[in-house]
Amino acid sequence: MIEEKELLLGLTNKEAEFRMKKFGPNELTKGKKKSPFMVFISQFNDLMIWVLLASTVISCFMGDTADAITIIIIVLINGILGFIQEYRTEKSLDALKSLAAPTCKVIRDGNMRVINAINLTVGDWVDLEAGDRVPADGILVDGNGLTVDESLLTGESVGVNKDTRDKHGNVYMGTTVLKGKGLMKVSTIGMGTEMGKIAGLLQNIEEEKSPLKDRLESLGKVLVFLCLGICAIVTVVGVARGNNLGDMFLLGVSLAVAAIPEGLPAIVTVSLALGVSRMLKRNALVRKLPAVETLGCTSVICSDKTGTLTQNSMTVKEIYIDNKIYNLDKGEKVRNEVFIKTLIYCNDCNYNLSEKNIDKALHGDPTETALVKAFFKDVQLLKTFISNKRRVFEVPFDSNRKMMSVIIRENGKETCYTKGAPEKVLDKCSYIVEDGRIKPLTSTKKKAILNCVDSMSNRALRCLAAAYKDGFLEKNDGLEKGLIFIGIVGSIDPPREEARDAVLQCKLAGIKPVMITGDHKNTAFAIAKALSICNSSDSVLTGDDIEALSDRELEREVEKARVFARVNPNHKLRIVKAFKKRGNIVAMTGDGVNDAPAIKEADIGISMGISGTDVTKEASSMILMDDNFTTIVAAVEEGRVIYDNIRKFIRYLLSCNLGEVLTMFLASIFYMPNPLTPIQILFVNLATDGLPAIALGVDPPDKDIMSQKPRDKKESIFARGLTEKIMVRGTLIGICTLMSFIIGQYLGFDLKTCRTIALCTLVMSQLIHVFECRSERHSIFEIKLFTNPYLLGAVLISISMIMCILYIPFFRDVFQTQALSLMNWGIVIFFSGIIATINSIYLYIKR
Ligand code: ATP
Repeated sequence: MIEEKELLLGLTNKEAEFRMKKFGPNELTKGKKKSPFMVFISQFNDLMIWVLLASTVISCFMGDTADAITIIIIVLINGILGFIQEYRTEKSLDALKSLAAPTCKVIRDGNMRVINAINLTVGDWVDLEAGDRVPADGILVDGNGLTVDESLLTGESVGVNKDTRDKHGNVYMGTTVLKGKGLMKVSTIGMGTEMGKIAGLLQNIEEEKSPLKDRLESLGKVLVFLCLGICAIVTVVGVARGNNLGDMFLLGVSLAVAAIPEGLPAIVTVSLALGVSRMLKRNALVRKLPAVETLGCTSVICSDKTGTLTQNSMTVKEIYIDNKIYNLDKGEKVRNEVFIKTLIYCNDCNYNLSEKNIDKALHGDPTETALVKAFFKDVQLLKTFISNKRRVFEVPFDSNRKMMSVIIRENGKETCYTKGAPEKVLDKCSYIVEDGRIKPLTSTKKKAILNCVDSMSNRALRCLAAAYKDGFLEKNDGLEKGLIFIGIVGSIDPPREEARDAVLQCKLAGIKPVMITGDHKNTAFAIAKALSICNSSDSVLTGDDIEALSDRELEREVEKARVFARVNPNHKLRIVKAFKKRGNIVAMTGDGVNDAPAIKEADIGISMGISGTDVTKEASSMILMDDNFTTIVAAVEEGRVIYDNIRKFIRYLLSCNLGEVLTMFLASIFYMPNPLTPIQILFVNLATDGLPAIALGVDPPDKDIMSQKPRDKKESIFARGLTEKIMVRGTLIGICTLMSFIIGQYLGFDLKTCRTIALCTLVMSQLIHVFECRSERHSIFEIKLFTNPYLLGAVLISISMIMCILYIPFFRDVFQTQALSLMNWGIVIFFSGIIATINSIYLYIKR
């Protein structure tokens, strides 16, 4: 009796809270995380920084205390900036992870609720169905044909049938429900579970590395050697000219610290993470960071129809029964009782019969709630209709079979009711009800029904056939055999209004939008046409067509196809593979447990936040929080923006660093005095490298970003002329800085003033160049300054910094600068502005 009561009510909220405190969270302890302090320390874990600090200490002993302190402070500030960046990135990624955390359906205080699995506790009742991941260890107390995949625990990939009566009734955390439904009572949670005992193994699953970050890291290594070589030359030449060895060593090391783009991979992570939070605002939750890079390359989007391209709000429009079509919109009514019984009994929607409003009383799959609403406007009548009926057996709906059946006991008699895709149900029918009498279903009659289905689905209706068999147990000749066909019901599911624009946007962006659906060919085509996905039925391929094609032939056919209808999840897998074989980067959506393999195979697997199952969510690299096609296109756009922005700051950082190195290198090979002191070099690094580069990472997109073709996935980040741009601009920055220094000397200014002019020219050229980096196609004069306030802010901070070291006497002493006169500024502005001006004229003439 107690069991019975608990079964209905579950734990009370209060009891659950008490138990959560007592037993702790339902989670597997994670591997150790770096503490904030360690994150801070790791900022200095760089060989060049150590060498710099060591040489600073040496110079300190030689009497240069002020210099040494300044260098240490600059290194510290740099470290703090790096720490803030890394810590914030880490935090926002953690927040994303908790959003993507698994959930479960638990009964508490008599209500079914979805909670984060971490809050589950011992004694909770959990509802399980196909696609769910079992959230803790427990015992199955109620269930219908529950099959569980326990391969994670046992390595055995065959599904295990669970039974409430015997020892097979145990279910284990981390296993997945393949089929059926059930209710489990939680017995063990967290580290106490079977999974907890082997948790150590799972902690070793590494987070996927971003391929771009990987490539930049290896590029970084090459650059390190290059920079070190140049710095060595600068040092040796300086010594050869009779400079002090210690001074020259410090100069070389400072140059190395400034010029080596050690922050590059880190900024890539920052900008990926920021992009991921932006995507979340647009309802796309990215589960795997590298997916962001791939998104921008997407060339085919394979989308489900129902709910993604359509509104998933079904309304029954037409019913075919007894050779006649009834149009419900015209007020025509169908009163065939057994037809209504089939559609209501063979239906998995949930009722809350205490509600008065029928819309609020029904929950579940819109295909099914629509059926109830078509016949019942009143909750009381519905209540009477379904009372005293017991479902003694069921074969749930499954997208492979495309039908479902139940056996209902009513007044001591058992009846089998079946509904599903018309051609599938008709295959199981031997009889038909006509004029209230049961007659054999001849092939002519079957043809007439299918013709009617054809015409209904041409009007974009999703069709379901209803059939039954009386006295099921007496006949006992097998379920779903020799059924009696009753009629067809056709529901409309209108396209999402915004989806049409998104489809057009895809086409403009060189992305193929493709619809994949379990629905009828005609229904699919009618919707696809309304959405401009295609306008010829030649672009429709059905599941049967796919069956008839070899993999090779399918590869050829997919190029033309825009709609795949009546497909099952297995076909989806073949479709992804075929598209990939043709060199496409495929994004593919899915919701059911059977879709997981296709989602895993796709370059970008997308699962549904609302209707998706745990298993598909876990297999996917992105979750659509609103199940909406438009969100996929938005995510692709963000993917492109992020990639573009990464190119922007790579271009900026590398050309600036090249400029710095060249200034020093050219001066040394031409036997000139050093244009900058070590501290000044470190200052340039601090003022120009950090904030402006990060601000470029959040730059708004170019207007025409979605009118470009998708980029090739194998394309290097330096492709499309980026290397040339960096080399040319870096060289010009170096030459102009040196020229400003030479002119200063030529005009007879003292060395300090000349150095200050060079320093300002170098910084200002970089701060101008950062705006140029915002676009690869437009010149600096065409870019709207105020669209990126972060960048404007960052540049203003950098300018204030340089003003401080020029005009505040204390800093002037520290950085060995001189307050510049107007004429000096003239030189600075000329040399820092000239390249951008010439470049703009060049871009203008080129266009
Ligand atoms: P997608 O979401 O991929 O666009 P879909 O939702 O249209 O596809 P399925 O859910 O696999 O595809 O449905 C395929 C067919 O199965 C439908 O056209 C319909 O005939 C039948 N069907 C759908 N839902 C049910 C149900 N609840 N009961 C019985 N038959 C159903």
